[in-house]
Amino acid sequence: MIQRLKIICRQWLGLFFGLACWACAGLAQAQPVASAVRVEMEGPVTRLIFETSVRVDAEAYVMSNPDRVIVDLPEISFQLPSTAGQAEPAPRGKKLPPKTVTSFRFGQFALGKARIVIDLGRPAVVKATHAVPRIGGFDLIIEMQDADAAIFAQAVKRATQEAVAREILADGPKRNERSAGAGLPVIVIDPGHGGIDVGAQAVGNVQEKDIVFDFAKSLRMQLERTGRYRVVMTRNGDSFVPLGERVKTARDANADLFISIHADILSDPQGVSGATIYTVSDKASDREAARLAEKENLADSVAGLEGIDDVGDVSDILFDLTRRETRTWSHAFARTLVNYWGEAGPLNKNPHRSAGFRVLKAPDVPSVLLELGYLSNARDTAALTRPEWRGKAAEATVKAVDAFFANRSGTAATGKVPPAGGAR
Ligand SMILES: [Zn+2]
Repeated sequence: MIQRLKIICRQWLGLFFGLACWACAGLAQAQPVASAVRVEMEGPVTRLIFETSVRVDAEAYVMSNPDRVIVDLPEISFQLPSTAGQAEPAPRGKKLPPKTVTSFRFGQFALGKARIVIDLGRPAVVKATHAVPRIGGFDLIIEMQDADAAIFAQAVKRATQEAVAREILADGPKRNERSAGAGLPVIVIDPGHGGIDVGAQAVGNVQEKDIVFDFAKSLRMQLERTGRYRVVMTRNGDSFVPLGERVKTARDANADLFISIHADILSDPQGVSGATIYTVSDKASDREAARLAEKENLADSVAGLEGIDDVGDVSDILFDLTRRETRTWSHAFARTLVNYWGEAGPLNKNPHRSAGFRVLKAPDVPSVLLELGYLSNARDTAALTRPEWRGKAAEATVKAVDAFFANRSGTAATGKVPPAGGAR
């Protein structure tokens, strides 16, 4: 009935307005129903399939002692026979090897949430969960694959770590504050190097730490002047700040965007010039990016600190869990900044690159590293030391920040991922 109403509505109202009407939205929110369930086995693969009235997306993971698969899904009405999921009695006189799925149970788990618990007769891992359309609704398929004990143990460990991380993300007071929309977006500006660590040095005693600090101050002033952002600096003078401390500042400030400012230098310049915007990645986009990340990551050892990853274990787990979304936003900002930077000055011929920068590893803060230019290039150095250039470059960065947040609030409202192109 609901399906038919929706079809009629889409046909008529959608035809005129190109939109689903509010009634459709209301119907779409009606509680899903699971009306049938079956188990299918195919070699090492076992599928538990629930027939649902609407699309239901689920998340599944394994737990041990007893070995089981947990499936978390939105609240759903299970209109199934009372015997559904019960273990089958073993045939008399026959000793069969245990099946992957011996039994399962289901029900409401918490407000707005349902859960399915699948008891495993032998070790298996979750291959995938799919919602596949069929006539009159969807099939919610939980696909499991038999695994050896070591792989199963690994999957359990991973699931436990993710559960811990999820709890931290859900319960962190700062996260709650942010989701309540409190205050202005927070931008953390990170002028690279400082104090004992001077960074790159060009002729005429031009030091990276001073150039990036001057730019950071100009950017801070222009951002604050808009009245739209709260700005936090990772250093407020010529002091040394370890990389991990910079990441911590961003996380403690509950930052919405982290911009690390640097200037590069090449021993063999060959006319290389212009700004480059870097994002974090496990694998460097090219040799140059790998070289630069290695150099910037050495900042701590320059000051006699050990180059350990200060973000720690829990952050690593968080990093894995949230990094896809965070990276999407980091990329979106990098692309936007590339688009706007053209107003301020030249860009490197390959302006958006990526590598494993330690300072960009806050798992939940979109982060970029902006290399203003090359101190090995005379034209770049001349520009970077000029206050007029600094003002113009900071202005272009503010425009990119504005475009990023306009895009972000727009997509947050619709739940869409950022567009593939720039924000312009
Ligand atoms: Zn640097």
